[in-house]
Amino acid sequence: MSEAINNSNSLVLSARDLAKTYGQGPSAVEVLKGIHLDVSPSEKVAIVGSSGSGKSTLLHLLGGLDTPSAGSVVLAGSNLSKLSVAKLDQLRNHSLGFIYQFHHLLDEFSAQENVALPLRIRGLSNEESMDRASKILKAVGLGSRELHTPGELSGGERQRVAVARALVGNPACVLADEPTGNLDTETADSVFDLMLDIAREQGTAFVIVTHDPIRAKRCDRILHLERGVLKNLAA
Ligand code: ADP
Ligand code: MG
Repeated sequence: MSEAINNSNSLVLSARDLAKTYGQGPSAVEVLKGIHLDVSPSEKVAIVGSSGSGKSTLLHLLGGLDTPSAGSVVLAGSNLSKLSVAKLDQLRNHSLGFIYQFHHLLDEFSAQENVALPLRIRGLSNEESMDRASKILKAVGLGSRELHTPGELSGGERQRVAVARALVGNPACVLADEPTGNLDTETADSVFDLMLDIAREQGTAFVIVTHDPIRAKRCDRILHLERGVLKNLAA
């Protein structure tokens, strides 16, 4: 494990009084009202909630992809709102991985090139990036498919590549927005298992938005997003 953060007892992610309102005046939509969330190293947190309850909005704020109307997000010890754009990009690249419902891989690149990209952005050499991409693709069971483009892979395989891309930089935390929502049950189970296995092995924390209560139960904690606030549900 290269990142020292994974050995520390401090929180990887902490949100305080987080609020988000879209628009202004009578058309304003108050989506999040006062979110508190602490995520410890290696912890797997499931977030459930009905469609439109603000789950994606919350992940965007946690990942620094959008700015809150109020409140703060501290990622690996840094308050996101206090960082320059360049520093925020750098912190995100080192400390976070993202997995979405749709894979968001680049169609014209091979699986290996897609996975290597976050490391290239980090400034690692092509050789080292491709080598590390190759290793993690083997770990997700795609060692023989690394030269294939996303179009040549099945839905489940593409999502495994997305998991590999999120984890290749050994981030402190992965934010996953319905990562298996587009897969059949069996494939979804295997991708979910894979994420949890890697989380255990690498000590990566996960915040996973999921519709599936059975999968949510396999996380350490389940939080229910309702009317703009997070409530604990017994895991
Ligand atoms: P979920 O992921 O739980 O389905 P979202 O976070 O996508 O929910 O959306 C929460 C609410 O915020 C919805 O009512 C949605 O219409 C609204 N919303 C999301 N993004 C925007 C935006 N950019 N502008 C205005 N409203 C938005
Ligand atoms: Mg959503």
